[in-house]
Parts: sequence; structure tokens; C-alpha cells
Amino acid sequence: MKKNDRSRNDKEGLTPISKTREWKLLYFQHGRPGLEEGSEFKGLCRYCEIREICAIPRPESGVWRCAYYKALIRKKTNLYENVIKQLEKAEEAANFDRDICKILAETMNELIVHFPVTMDDGKVRMLTGYRVQHNNALGPYKGGLRFHPLVDIDEIRALATLMTWKTAITNIPFGGAKGGIQLDPADYSFEEIEKITRRFTFALGNNIGPEYDIPAPDVNTNPQIMAWILDTYMSTVAPNERNRCIHVVTGKPIESGGSQGRDKATGQGIVFLIEEWAEDHGLNLKGATYIVQGFGNVGSWAACLMKKDESKLIAVEDVSGAILNKEGIDPDDLSNYVKEHGGVVLDYPKAQPIDHETFFSTRADIFIPAALENQITAETAELLDVKLVAEGANGPTDPDGDKVLQRKKIDVIPDILCNSGGVIVSYFEWLQNKRSEFWELKEVDYKLHKMIVDAYERVRNTAEEFKVDWRTAAQIVAVSRIEIVYKERGIFP
Ligand code: NAD
Repeated sequence: MKKNDRSRNDKEGLTPISKTREWKLLYFQHGRPGLEEGSEFKGLCRYCEIREICAIPRPESGVWRCAYYKALIRKKTNLYENVIKQLEKAEEAANFDRDICKILAETMNELIVHFPVTMDDGKVRMLTGYRVQHNNALGPYKGGLRFHPLVDIDEIRALATLMTWKTAITNIPFGGAKGGIQLDPADYSFEEIEKITRRFTFALGNNIGPEYDIPAPDVNTNPQIMAWILDTYMSTVAPNERNRCIHVVTGKPIESGGSQGRDKATGQGIVFLIEEWAEDHGLNLKGATYIVQGFGNVGSWAACLMKKDESKLIAVEDVSGAILNKEGIDPDDLSNYVKEHGGVVLDYPKAQPIDHETFFSTRADIFIPAALENQITAETAELLDVKLVAEGANGPTDPDGDKVLQRKKIDVIPDILCNSGGVIVSYFEWLQNKRSEFWELKEVDYKLHKMIVDAYERVRNTAEEFKVDWRTAAQIVAVSRIEIVYKERGIFP
């Protein structure tokens, strides 16, 4: 938040910004997902609640900004279309069987549930939840649950498809799925979120299950939410089955059957891959600089784990705005600040506030996008001045952005490889639950390192063999594995 924005708010009689938890999620009210490109948008600000304000349309960047409060809102772009385009690109490069690509271009099952929940004030609210199961040729469906106001069926379809690629690349015996509820968590109390989670789980019924479809945390969901899902699911099965279904979700709290290292797994995987890439490219990570977009589970863990390599975090952007300190930001200190200040980096005293463009233009060695999809567009990719983009988020780069990165010779560790640490350790958690085992952190980290570096090498070798970019190579590795299975088993009947 720039100082002059604040005085403008005061002058116009608007409530000035303060460091409150309301900053946690600053989105406009529901019903905005269909923002039209170029249209003037007026809505009620989540922060001031009653005042009508205008968003500055920024359709090129895919981000809409509240005129007064710097709240960012994504313009809906069709992530699913991008995911399918990527599949077609790999199909052409590797000459995959057309029939198998036809299967993979569709999701297998799509469930939309509308369910009632009684709110704290006694009133009933109807909510909409999704679970999409893309493919289970390699094993049970697997994928996270997202609570976000812009969740819709297309987004969940796309994310489910990405999960299939991710499990295939890493040689995990899982398929791909994703789920979510369209809601803004800032609108609900802790108790309401519990009720919503439990009612959603009940509505999903047998469409999830420990050997069938296994959810995990994603944006705005966490181990606590996984514990509620587990408890609700267990309550709906026969008493003698209850302790046999503890692996119905992963990412649980340790005490409820979670795995050591699952909380940091996605960030840890990103860092292992950055280390591999740095070794391949002769970059000394000691003193190397990096910037991070999104400082939630993935972004903050990745940032903190880069400390071991003595790399320097210099800029961070999240939903509340962006900050810069060229001398270096201590990721642990920032994490503590974020925990104490409503989950956002706004007003962090040891860095200066910067705008979206300055953040993207910050010269650094590495950029870790770890927020949401479609952040690296043609426009923002032009601004980037980095050597490597390590995609922590799912789908952070759109196809136009990708072309610009290639032209500028910026390397990319693509999402389906880069953020696969989460699902790898989810698989470890699932295995431990099935075998009634409990692995030490050292063992989890060792196995994660081996699996993710093996996947990295497969992608690197494929990129060399087919002379394609890494995103296409990663896609080729994933589809090749599924193609073999379909060919071996044939299509029933
Ligand atoms: P999270 O909810 O913990 O954090 C999301 C972060 O993104 C927050 O810091 C938020 O402020 C920021 N953000 C939201 N909208 C933004 C915007 N418009 N501009 C800038 N920043 C914005 O979520 P997470 O679990 O860390 O997930 C982040 C990404 O990583 C998602 O794409 C998710 O699908 C992907 N991912 C997560 C996991 C996991 O294990 N949690 C695994 C694989 C991939």
C-alpha cells in the first residue's frame, strides 16, 4: 500500500487500511467470477464492506486491482484450455497414439454438489463444491481440495488433469483428481469452515475413499481441514472399517496419521530441483537471489528452505501487495510476521512496498511463482529478469507467457515436475497409513529427494532426446507412462 493511496482513502472518507486479519483475503463479493475482458467493474470491497469502489481493469495481466485497497483479483482465464493445448503439443512432438490422447483430453468423472450449511447466525447458506476425477489408469485418484471464491468446474478440471501428469512423471501409483468449494474463507468463522468441510465430505460420500480417491490440502485448506474430512468419512463407514480408512486423506496433522515432512514437502521438492538445476547450469546458490510470489504453504516453505543454500530472498508478492529489500529478506522472520499479521506480507517493516510491475521486473536469479494460475502472461513474462522460473503453483504460466520465457531463454522447471514434492510425500503418508508405519523425517526427505531427482532426470533426458522445451518434455514423460498402461491393458470391452 503506497502512502498516497492511504491519504486518498482518508480524504475520501474511506476506512484506512490497518493491519487486520481482513487483509487475509481481499476479494470482491461473490458472483464476480465471470469478469469480462475490458469491462468496467464496480463492486463492494471486501475490506470496507459497504462502500462501492471501482476495480482498475487490467485484463492483460489477468489481475484486477481494487482502486483504493490494492486488492488483487484474478480475471478468469481458461486454464483447462491451456492444459489441453499442452497435451496436444506433446502429442505432436512424441507422436502419441491419437486414441489414448483422446481419452486423456477428457475427465472421467465430474461431481458438483450443492449442500446446505447452518451458519453461526442460524441462517442456512447453500454452497457449491466440486470433485473432478481425471484419470485412474495408474492407481487411485489423488489430488487436493481448494477453498477459493473463484473455484469453478473448469479450474478443477484443469487441476485434476495436472495431477494425473504429476503422479505419472514421478512414478507414483496414483491417478489425478482435484476438488474445491467456491467460497471466500474470510467470510466464515472457524466453526463454519468446520461445518462446511464436514457437510461437503458427507455430500461426496463414497465418491472419495482410501483406495479410490484421496484428497489433500491445496489453496486455503490445511491439516486441520484434512482431520475434519477424515473424522467425517470415518463416521460414515461401518465401525469395524473405521481404522482401515485413515488414508482417505493425506496432509493430515501428524497426530492424526500425517507424515513427517508433508507440510514442507512441496517447498522442499522445489528446492531440491533448484539445487539440481543450479548444479547443471553452474550457478552457485550461495548469494544467488530469488523472488517469490505467494507466501502461503508452498511459497513460504520454499523460501525458508532456500536459506540452507545461503541464497538471498529479495522480493515477495502475495494477495495484499508486494515488498522488496535488495539487501535480503529473512524468510523465517517474514513467515513469523505473516503468521502474526493475518497471513499477509503487507506492511512488513523490513522491506519497502512495491507495485506488481516492479515485483515482476526485479532482477534476480530465480523466480518461484507459488500463488495461483495464469500469473506469468505475455505482459508479466516481458518484465521478468531472471534465469530460472521454478513453478511452485499449478499453471502459473499461460501459453503466451511461456512463449515469451522461451524467447528470452529463461529456463522453466514446469509445475507438474516442480511442485510434485507434495504428492510424493502424500504417497508416503498413504503408504505409512496402510502399513501402520511411521517414518522419520530423514527417511521421508531422503526418499523425496530420490524420487523427485529421478523425475527431473527423466524430464531432462526427454528434453534432450526430443529437442523440446521442459514443459513439453515433462508432458511427454507423463503421457508415455500412461500410454504404456493403456496399450498393455487395452480398452474394455
Ligand atoms: P496457500 O493458500 O497456502 O497460499 C497461497 C498464497 O498465494 C498466499 O500467500 C496468497 O496471499 C497468495 N495469492 C493469492 N492470490 C494472489 C494473487 N492474485 N497475487 C499474488 N499472490 C496471491 O496455498 P498453497 O497451498 O501454498 O498453494 C499455492 C499454489 O501451489 C497453488 O497453485 C497450489 O495449487 C499449488 N500447490 C500446492 C501444494 C500444496 O501441497 N499445498 C502442492 C502442489 C501445488
